[in-house]
Amino acid sequence: MGQVMKRMMDMLYTKKLEVVLVGLESSGKTTLLTVLGGGTPVETAPTIGLNVKMVKRGGVQMKCWDLGGQSQYRSEWGRYTRGSNVIMFVVDTHAMESLPTVKHELHRLLEDKELAKTPLLIVANKIDLEPHVVENQLIKELNLDYIVDNPWVVIPCSALRGINVDEVVNWLTKQSS
Ligand code: GDP
Repeated sequence: MGQVMKRMMDMLYTKKLEVVLVGLESSGKTTLLTVLGGGTPVETAPTIGLNVKMVKRGGVQMKCWDLGGQSQYRSEWGRYTRGSNVIMFVVDTHAMESLPTVKHELHRLLEDKELAKTPLLIVANKIDLEPHVVENQLIKELNLDYIVDNPWVVIPCSALRGINVDEVVNWLTKQSS
C-alpha cells in the first residue's frame, strides 16, 4: 500500500519537463545526457537519429530527446523541439571552425515561430580543452544578441569532466517551476 501511495504521489507531484538536446555531431549531447542521468560519462559514438532518456533530478522528471547532429538529421530538429518545454543547444567550444555552422543551424531552428518563447540554454561544452571560445566570444560568434523571441542563457561547462553540470541541472529545475 505504501509503495502504491508513494507512486501515486510521485505521479501527481513530480514536475515534468520535456527537454530537447540539439547541436552538431560530437558536441557532447550524449555525454551530457549520461551525466544528467547520474551516470559516468563513457566513450560514446556520435548520436545517430535520436536517443530518448528519462532523467529525474531535483524533483523534476525530464524526458530528454538527444537528436542526431549530422546534417541529414538537422532538418528534423524542429519536429521535436516544437513540443518541448526547453531547448538545450550543445556547442563544442573547442571546435572553433564549426561555429559558423552552429550559428546557421541555431538561427535556422529559431526561425520556427512555434518555438518563440521556448527557453533556450546554450551549453558551451568542452571548456576543459584548450583553446576554447569563452562566453562573450561565443555570444558574438553565434549572434546571440539577435535572439529576442526566446529567453536564452549560456552555461560554459564540460560534460566529460563534470564542470558546471550542476549549473545546467539548476537551470533545468528552475524551468519547471
Ligand atoms: P554527440 O554526438 O553530440 O552525442 O557527442 P558525444 O556525447 O558522443 O561526444 C563526442 C565526443 O566528445 C566523445 O568522444 C566524448 O567523450 C567527447 N566529449 C563530450 N563532452 C566532452 C567534454 O566536455 N570535454 C571533452 N574533452 N570531450 C568531451
